[in-house]
Amino acid sequence: MIVLKKNLEKDFEDAIKYNEFKIVLQPKFDIKTEQIIGAEALVRRHKEGKIIMPDFFIPKYEKAGLITKLDIFVFENICKILKEWKEKGYKLLPIAINESSRDLYNKNHINKLGKIVEKYEISPNLIELELTETAVIKDIKRAKQAEKDVHSLGFVVSMDDFGVGYSSFYMLKNINIDILKIDKSFSDEVMEDKRGRIILESIIDMSKKLQIKTVAEGIETKEQIEYLRKIGCDMVQGYYYDKPISIDKFEEKYIKQ
Ligand code: C2E
Ligand code: CA
Ligand code: CA
Repeated sequence: MIVLKKNLEKDFEDAIKYNEFKIVLQPKFDIKTEQIIGAEALVRRHKEGKIIMPDFFIPKYEKAGLITKLDIFVFENICKILKEWKEKGYKLLPIAINESSRDLYNKNHINKLGKIVEKYEISPNLIELELTETAVIKDIKRAKQAEKDVHSLGFVVSMDDFGVGYSSFYMLKNINIDILKIDKSFSDEVMEDKRGRIILESIIDMSKKLQIKTVAEGIETKEQIEYLRKIGCDMVQGYYYDKPISIDKFEEKYIKQ
């Protein structure tokens, strides 16, 4: 076990050293205007000519305690990119970054994020931190503190994968979030499932009353967009508009004016 962990650590350090982690950006759109309003940063690993997806390595890094380093790597790189866009006079879009639950409960980690935005002179409201619902449910007290810490530094707080956990309403009552990301599994079923539609409509309605913005993720069809627009969802992200793409492509397509 210890040997395995050591191997994984060495492999991780190598990946950093040889620049194997690459960030891709998936755009997010305003559902009414269909204008781009931000993006989510997602990580991949390029190794020996292959692309390895995060679902494969993130759980391993979480177990081995390496995820914090990776999340800092992604965070710092996004700040670098935003600084570059700013210097080039490009449009500045808010970027959402995934934060593992391990990081979320660690005050030092959150303070580090604050230091990094200061270093790159990035306005923290350009960064949305995506927390997963399951992480929050595991320890609502610590999650509540984390949300306060993150907000006090000026970051935007987004709840990822909403609807796949078990006590979504308890979480919503206790944690003050800015954005709710409705999980793909919800949007997948909406066209056929009447019960699902009633629940989704209520979530969107409730979010409006709580002044929380809603994003539907994993949207692949025009029908889904039309329905989500009708029920008042604010934003969409998914293959229908665009897949996660390289930073260069993203700049070409969405940033350079
Ligand atoms: P997530 O945060 O829920 O990210 C959304 C996933 O759905 C992404 O997969 C994205 O490529 C995919 N997706 C987006 N639109 C569509 C669509 O229309 N259809 C379908 N079928 N899929 C769509 P990806 O990039 O493989 O990421 C998987 C998960 O890995 C993420 O789920 C997130 O939990 C985690 N992850 C990715 N990057 C990071 C990171 O830097 N740090 C941490 N802690 N986790 C990360
Ligand atoms: Ca996410
Ligand atoms: Ca998600």
